[in-house]
Amino acid sequence: MDDQVQVRCKRCKNVFRERARRMQNGYSRQCPSCEVVLFFEEDSPDQDIKRAMKSARKMRKDLREAEAVQMTTTSSARRRARSYGGRQEAAEEEDS
Ligand SMILES: [Zn+2]
Repeated sequence: MDDQVQVRCKRCKNVFRERARRMQNGYSRQCPSCEVVLFFEEDSPDQDIKRAMKSARKMRKDLREAEAVQMTTTSSARRRARSYGGRQEAAEEEDS
């Protein structure tokens, strides 16, 4: 799953990608193109940053939900495997 959001530099207008998990309120990073330091604040006066923070927040939520689904799927698969193993052992006991 894609976990990056697009950020537009306020100075050079270069668009680069940053991982949503890193983009917490107060995070800062340099633009890879002009090296200006961008500050990621949810109440930033820069609309581009504000928008990027919003999509990062949404993406983190989506990622959490995707992980929760994955965890549920994995544990139910494990349960199935265990019950299947149990049946197998019982069958072997009957044979001997
Ligand atoms: Zn820049």
